[in-house]
Amino acid sequence: MSQTILVTGGAGYIGSHAVLELLSADYEVVILDNFCNSSKESLDRVKTLTGKEFTFYETDLRDRQGLATIFKNHSIDSVIHFAGLKAVGESNEKPIEYYENNVVGSLVLFDEMEKAGVRKIVFSSSATVYGEPEKNPISETAKLGHTNPYGRTKYMIEFILKDIQKAKNWDIVILRYFNPVGAHASGDIGESPNDVPNNLLPFVTQAAIGVRDHVTIFGDDYDTIDGTGVRDYIHVVDLVLGHIKSLEKLDKDKGLFIYNLGTGSGVSVKEMIDAIREVSKKDIKVVVGPRRAGDVGEVVADSTLAEKELGWTAQYNLKDMAESSWRWQEKNPKGYA
Ligand code: NAD
Ligand code: UDP
Repeated sequence: MSQTILVTGGAGYIGSHAVLELLSADYEVVILDNFCNSSKESLDRVKTLTGKEFTFYETDLRDRQGLATIFKNHSIDSVIHFAGLKAVGESNEKPIEYYENNVVGSLVLFDEMEKAGVRKIVFSSSATVYGEPEKNPISETAKLGHTNPYGRTKYMIEFILKDIQKAKNWDIVILRYFNPVGAHASGDIGESPNDVPNNLLPFVTQAAIGVRDHVTIFGDDYDTIDGTGVRDYIHVVDLVLGHIKSLEKLDKDKGLFIYNLGTGSGVSVKEMIDAIREVSKKDIKVVVGPRRAGDVGEVVADSTLAEKELGWTAQYNLKDMAESSWRWQEKNPKGYA
């Protein structure tokens, strides 16, 4: 019998790609989302792409009754917990909303899971929990830090999960994502920012298609290959396959596991802009501006632990990331709107 996975935030950017891969791998999927940063369209497209059915609940994480109903209606084997607010800048302006949504929401979910006897979870954490890294590449044992309310919500949830694991014997995988980019090969699902994008890649593809006039490079005086910020970009499909490997891990091994998901290679802002120029054949206007507050020069993952323990490595390269991002942008100039 196939396993049933509850995917919170399943209509979002990473969640919709995860639902697609889970369905393709013959998992039964139940999705919860309140559409605060997504729309039904992503899920309609997943249905068309896979030709498979899933169950969807338009429910908020903090809605205890709603969660209890889901756990009553379905025999859930594991939860993949994507739902949360994720904009660093916004989190500085709206800390209460971020702690409420991410921390309180997660606590309600964990409580209802415990009540329903569901004790397996894969949690979306982030490289942001490393704060300003002391060295690159960063391994899971590196010192943690946090520079904004969003990062602190991830840090807090990680510790809440560690405490629950100790007290209640849950089986948990915490995945620290580096910089997820790219889109499904079809170009039919992808990242659809509601407003001005916070992240580099959607900004660059929007500039290439003419939605934005130019890209501002946030500082070119870092101690990096060309002075611009270096990040470890990872294709979203590789990232979600890491979740399926994590579910398999939880079938075999008991306890709490933490893995970085990245490629181990750094790409600078200039290199990323050039990659999109090449695949789009568009001239992208670039303006160099000051550093963005709170930014660090270089953040690159050491993902050897995920390779060793999950049997997972990233398969897609920078060209694949650029091509799939551009295909999505070209087919959907206004995202899902
Ligand atoms: P997203 O905003 O596209 O998806 C999150 C989904 O959760 C959305 O569909 C939103 O409507 C839903 N949601 C938010 N709060 C909810 C609530 N209270 N109840 C029900 N649904 C709720 O974001 P994403 O990029 O797909 O990110 C998914 C997860 O991965 C998040 O937890 C994010 O913090 C984490 N993450 C993302 C990145 C990244 O760069 N995209 C990097 C590291 C970690
Ligand atoms: N960046 C940039 N211009 C933008 C957006 C981002 O130069 O419009 C840079 C940013 O300073 C960082 C890199 O691109 O060096 C990745 O930024 P993003 O916000 O996508 O990810 P994060 O900083 O959270 O790793």
